[in-house]
Amino acid sequence: MFSITIIGAGVIGLAVAEELSRHYGSVLLLEKEHTFGHETSSRQSGVIHAGIYYPPGFLKARFCREGKGLLYELSEKRGIPHRKTGKLIVAVTEKEEEILERLRERAEANGVTDLSLLSEKEIKKKEPEIKARAALFSPSTGIIDSHSLLRSFYVHAGSHGAVIVFRSKVTAARFRGKHYEIEINGGEYRFQTGSLINCAGLHADSVCRLLGIDVEKRGYRLRYCKGDYFSASPAPKLNHLVYPVPQGENEGLGIHATLDLGGRVRFGPDTEYVDELEYAVRGEKRESFYRSVMTYLPGIKEEALCPDMSGIRPKLQGPKEPYRDFIIREESGIGYPGLINCIGIESPGLTSCIPVARHVHRLVQEYM
Ligand SMILES: Cc1cc2nc3c(=O)[nH]c(=O)nc-3n(C[C@H](O)[C@H](O)[C@H](O)COP(=O)(O)OP(=O)(O)OC[C@H]3O[C@@H](n4cnc5c(N)ncnc54)[C@H](O)[C@@H]3O)c2cc1C
Repeated sequence: MFSITIIGAGVIGLAVAEELSRHYGSVLLLEKEHTFGHETSSRQSGVIHAGIYYPPGFLKARFCREGKGLLYELSEKRGIPHRKTGKLIVAVTEKEEEILERLRERAEANGVTDLSLLSEKEIKKKEPEIKARAALFSPSTGIIDSHSLLRSFYVHAGSHGAVIVFRSKVTAARFRGKHYEIEINGGEYRFQTGSLINCAGLHADSVCRLLGIDVEKRGYRLRYCKGDYFSASPAPKLNHLVYPVPQGENEGLGIHATLDLGGRVRFGPDTEYVDELEYAVRGEKRESFYRSVMTYLPGIKEEALCPDMSGIRPKLQGPKEPYRDFIIREESGIGYPGLINCIGIESPGLTSCIPVARHVHRLVQEYM
């Protein structure tokens, strides 16, 4: 019998495993793939977000703001490669300039107070290849080597005694009054656990279904929202992350330019709701990527864009539905004491991983 079992070794499950293994013995982390971070946590932009966009009062807003500082601190302490690149949100029309002002107000309501407004001339000085009427500059946005971050959580969780097992898919889970009975790989192995923490990312709603939770009734059903990236060769010379003004809460952050720590530029991700977990990037999207990017990077050539990677967001809202927050909840209220669900952990999940883990720890403390 384990006291705590975590399902899923993405950035959330690993951060939770490190946090809980500091405080509790007998923590088990199960991952269906052959290693950690095989799904969404390795198919994302690697941006440490500042916390600008999210509705005030949302966990997304609070955890992103807190998580940014905590990630920089942890990265410094553990030598995890990262860089505070700074980011520009660029307005190319008069209407977009007005949206910048509203974005700044929202950021301030979220406690992000380091933004400044740049003129066309100031933008040119920072980014000679960018053409825009105005921009919001976020100096504290940055990038991180997410694989090193995940590895660091993995190593520290292990050194605090957490048992982390790969190739172990949870295929059945039942609440037995005082504990949960878990089955791995269709019956290869069965055991009991006092508490169960669902960090299964794109499959978090399926784990709820295994337990008998009505995901439609609870509002837990996930929609897959794919984000494709294109890279550019030759690459434009950019020093900062460059984002267009977002067109709406469900449309993602717009086709932006991200940098990785090797200086490689990638454009994306776009947003496309899909039914299957399928990661191929279709070449015919090149023209629409080009049309978006050339609005703020006029020197880009369409033929320079090449299909790159993609990732899939586990979204709680479908297209045109109201924007939803992360669900991080201890489920005694619906008859599952000791079950903690982490559902809909889309962006800014990477930035928020440490506050999410601490929040889960508080929920475990309250339950135990
Ligand atoms: C395109 C894109 C770009 C993004 N960019 C950013 C960004 O720049 N900054 C940012 O802060 N956030 C970003 N995000 C969000 C961030 O990547 C996610 O919030 C985060 O990676 C989610 O981590 P996770 O651990 O919840 O999920 P995952 O990484 O998907 O991990 C879940 C794990 O659970 C395992 N699992 C599932 N079911 C079972 C089962 N039954 N048994 C055992 N194991 C199971 C899976 O194999 C998987 O490894 C982005 C997301 C996308 C899609």
